[in-house]
Amino acid sequence: MNVNPVPTLDERINDIRMRTSAIVNEWILPNEATLWNLGRNGEASDHDRRAAAELREEIKAVVWKAGLWAPHLPEDYGGMGLDFLAHAYMNEVLAYGIGAASLFGVVAPNSGNQSILVKYGTEEQKQRWLLPLINGELESGFSMTEPENAGSDPRSLTTSAVLDGDSWVINGHKWFTSNGIDADFFIVMARGAESDAAAKRREGTMAQFIVPTATKGVNIVRGIGVWGRPNSDHCEVVYDNVRIAKGNILGQVGDGHRAAQDRLGAGRVFHCMNSVGQMWRAFDLMVERARSREVHGGLLQDKQFVQGFIAESYIDISAARLMTIHAAEKVDQGLDGARTDISAIKVAVPAAYSRVVDRAIQVWGAAGVSNDLPLAAMYQGARTLRIADGPDEVHKILIAKNVLGGYRDGAGWDFGN
Ligand SMILES: Cc1cc2nc3c(=O)[nH]c(=O)nc-3n(C[C@H](O)[C@H](O)[C@H](O)COP(=O)(O)OP(=O)(O)OC[C@H]3O[C@@H](n4cnc5c(N)ncnc54)[C@H](O)[C@@H]3O)c2cc1C
Repeated sequence: MNVNPVPTLDERINDIRMRTSAIVNEWILPNEATLWNLGRNGEASDHDRRAAAELREEIKAVVWKAGLWAPHLPEDYGGMGLDFLAHAYMNEVLAYGIGAASLFGVVAPNSGNQSILVKYGTEEQKQRWLLPLINGELESGFSMTEPENAGSDPRSLTTSAVLDGDSWVINGHKWFTSNGIDADFFIVMARGAESDAAAKRREGTMAQFIVPTATKGVNIVRGIGVWGRPNSDHCEVVYDNVRIAKGNILGQVGDGHRAAQDRLGAGRVFHCMNSVGQMWRAFDLMVERARSREVHGGLLQDKQFVQGFIAESYIDISAARLMTIHAAEKVDQGLDGARTDISAIKVAVPAAYSRVVDRAIQVWGAAGVSNDLPLAAMYQGARTLRIADGPDEVHKILIAKNVLGGYRDGAGWDFGN
């Protein structure tokens, strides 16, 4: 990956980007097949698995020693304590390498849960859940979306948490709870209600609860098959009279929606910057192939169709990157003022990502859809991003609402701010 200091960035961010790219280039890119593929059809021997695990630990130690561990966490919790923009700039470099973020201590959904626990957790919750999650002793999931209700409209959620003496009793049906197979606890979004009757009337406001997965009544039905694969770690979960301690609520009843927005709002910028890093990788792969593949008496790079792919992808990546950096700058100035820009990038960047990867696949021909390259997985990831964390349409509605609101107030829209 060709990363150089950016003249307009401060020395600290440039330093982080340069040192991150050095590790990605030296440790991760040359070892991707060993680290993750584990045999081309997933048929890894025990020896291969052990070698991969050892290598991952070795790289984590290098990252730790370089002071680049957990960019999303405050220094008090062993992280880098980065501000938002610096983290975003680091992400585009990290995302270039497959799975690199996990070797730098940032793995969704654990990283989002860590940030929520830092912000909303009590001291006791931090000791019991956050610190072991950071140390890698625990795994977690975030359980919000329900099969019977529209995930695009979180207010429609019906999972209930009713206070009964010293316990909350949770009932509900969720799906697409990622990392559900390995998770030791879930953060569950539910409607906190005073009584069963109130819960049935859909009264009560949203709250988030820490639910250990070993609790009686937590029933992990299946890892849902996605993209033609028979299963995944995105789980369907039934909560059947799950009784948890009263102290397992995160913040207060009523905080749930805001906590989800805190998580998703920031997360969307990071997802987009990740997409930029992945587009960068797809672009490099496309150009590499165009420079070396001979067809019909000449290199692909000399054909105008392919030159068009390169130019259009360059435009897509540059536009996506600048929009995302602009949104990250706005988040640094206050999340509320950035909401329109966050929605704009959440629509624009996955679409650009899909186009760039699509062109890279085309240039590679059959190899483009093979498991020998990361492009096929990227293609699925880009498509999925148009749904996860709020589908395109919901973000377009929000953009239009905010813009129209600006005009209604008589001010119009100031694109400079
Ligand atoms: C791979 C993957 C991982 C995920 N991980 C998690 C996780 O860890 N935890 C979790 O809780 N959830 C997770 N999700 C769920 C995800 O957040 C939801 O899928 C998303 O919020 C959309 O909700 P839905 O699927 O219920 O779609 P729906 O809300 O039913 O929407 C369906 C479609 O309707 C359209 N639509 C919606 N509203 C409007 C409107 N107002 N006007 C016009 N059209 C509209 C959109 O095109 C949308 O795609 C994951 C999803 C995927 C695919």
